[in-house]
Amino acid sequence: MAISSQIKIRDTAYELPRSVCPKCGHEMDRATGVSLDDEVVPKPEPGDSTICISCGEWLKFNGDLSLSRLTEEDIGMLSDEQFLLLQRIGSGLRKIKAG
Ligand SMILES: [Zn+2]
Repeated sequence: MAISSQIKIRDTAYELPRSVCPKCGHEMDRATGVSLDDEVVPKPEPGDSTICISCGEWLKFNGDLSLSRLTEEDIGMLSDEQFLLLQRIGSGLRKIKAG
């Protein structure tokens, strides 16, 4: 899937405990790593950020790898790369949904 030519989306989908997006209720049990370069993206760990593939909400993994919304404080602690990735993926999802 090509969301943006500059974002590398991994072939590996990590299996995760089933969790529900707190915004739209979409059930997820997998996550795919993305990055802006060729670095290997490891399996998600508690505290990592992610995005709901259904509604684009910015999320984070809790201690048990369930999902909750990113707070303003969480967003303030993201690296520039993490912020950019979430923005670009969210924008790509909106374009895909708009058809
Ligand atoms: Zn959602």
